Order: sequence, then structure tokens, then C-alpha cells
Amino acid sequence: MANIKLKEISTRAPKDWNKEETKENLASILAKLNELQNLLYAESQHAILVILQGMDASGKDGVVRKVFTSMNPQGVRVHSFKVPTAEEFSHDFLWRIHGVAPPKGIIQLFNRSHYEDVLVTRVHKLIDEKTVKKRMKAINDFEQLLQEHNNTRILKFYLHISPEEQQERLQERIHDPTKQWKYNERDFEEAKLWDDYMAAYEDCFEYCNDVPWTIVPADQNWYKEHVIAEALLKTLQKLDMQYPGLKKG
Ligand code: ATP
Ligand code: MG
Repeated sequence: MANIKLKEISTRAPKDWNKEETKENLASILAKLNELQNLLYAESQHAILVILQGMDASGKDGVVRKVFTSMNPQGVRVHSFKVPTAEEFSHDFLWRIHGVAPPKGIIQLFNRSHYEDVLVTRVHKLIDEKTVKKRMKAINDFEQLLQEHNNTRILKFYLHISPEEQQERLQERIHDPTKQWKYNERDFEEAKLWDDYMAAYEDCFEYCNDVPWTIVPADQNWYKEHVIAEALLKTLQKLDMQYPGLKKG
């Protein structure tokens, strides 16, 4: 995806998109996902990795809660990547990632991911530009390794919100008692680096797109959830899976 300019891409559903129909449709997609996830688990031939990236308050947690809780928890795993620990720091940046890559039969969600290592670290100039390029190459190779050597399907989503929507959501974290636990005053400082983050994301879309990114308009949760659920459904349907039948022997 060369020359993507996030500023030129809408953060909202297409005009006249029907919200009620979309919500109803989501319910039926979730039911189908539940069935297919059962089959994925039973067959245990493929692994699924869903990568969620986005600015603070872009709704990553909401995707986990709304799209993935309809499935059997036995076959779905979530890992949220935080600032690396001292031990993680003492290894290469993919070490902590590879350890939680999905085994066959499992849908693994990454709430943030190895992309943080070419985003937050780059924006704060913790790594130089040469290292950024090398890491991007390592990321492409790593994603290819998972695909080729463990039958992993990777879906990468960027939750695209506007800076105005982000400010509104960060304010809500101050005032809404159910959201105060998410409040972090540092988020307001990070928000000031918006343009640098957008440029870093645009480079990820350009240089790490061997496994393609989906840019998800995410100002409206109902639309965001629908786009992601539908993409996951299409991926699972294409796997052409079979129940294994009675075990032999
Ligand atoms: P929300 O989007 O709801 O604000 P969050 O993903 O920011 O949630 P937090 O626990 O608030 O969750 O923050 C996690 C922090 O860890 C983020 O600021 C992220 O940039 C940081 N982080 C994740 N991976 C890395 C990394 N490899 N290097 C440095 N920082 C990282
Ligand atoms: Mg945060």
C-alpha cells in the first residue's frame, strides 16, 4: 500500500450506511464465527493471528469484547503487549512475540504487537532509522515464517480514529467512573505526537504489507466491529475445513 495518507481516509462508515441492519448482520456473523471457530479447533490444521493496532482509545479493547467473546474461550487467546519488561528488553524484539504466536487450532489476538517496535519506539527516537528498516524486514520475514511454517493466517487491522474522536474518548476516561481505570495522563502527551504516529503507521502500511493491512474506520464502534468480524468470517470460510471424524487406531 504505497502512498497511503491516513488524513485522506475517512474514520467513519460510508454515508447512508444502515446502522440497524449492520448491527443485525453482526449478530448473524458472530453466530457463524462461533461455528467456524469450533471447526478450526476440532480440525487443528490452521492457526489464526489477529493483530489490532491503533492509537490510544481507538477501541482495541472493544473489539476483543464485542467480536471475540462470542466464541469458545478454549480456542481463543488474547495477549496485550505493554512496555517490554527488563527480561523482554534483554532479548531481540520478536522474542516475546514469537512465544505467544498461535498454535494450530487457535485464534490468537494481539492487542498491540510487534508493530509497536517500529511505532512508539520510532516516534520517540529510541531507535535510529536504519534500525527501523531492519526491523521492518525482520517483521516481514517473521510473518512469512508463521504463514509458511505453521499454516497461520494473519489479519492486521489498524483502527482508524480521528484526533477529535480520540480527545473525546480520553476526556470520557476522566469523567466516566466505568472508564476511569483506563485513564493515563501520558495519553494526552502521546496525542500531541499524532502526526508523527500517522507517518510511522503509513510506513508500516507501505513496507510491511506482504500480509496486507486493513484500515478500519473506527469512530463508530458498530461499524468497526462489523468490518473486523466480516473479515474474520471470510478468512475462516476460505479455509475449507472439515471435521476430522473418528480418530483412527
Ligand atoms: P488504550 O488503547 O485503551 O489506551 P493501551 O493499549 O494503550 O490501551 P495501556 O496498558 O494503556 O494499553 O498501554 C500499553 C502501552 O505499552 C502503550 O503505550 C504502548 O505504546 C506500550 N508498548 C507496547 N509495546 C511496546 C514496545 N514494544 N515498546 C514500547 N512500548 C510499548
Ligand atoms: Mg493507552
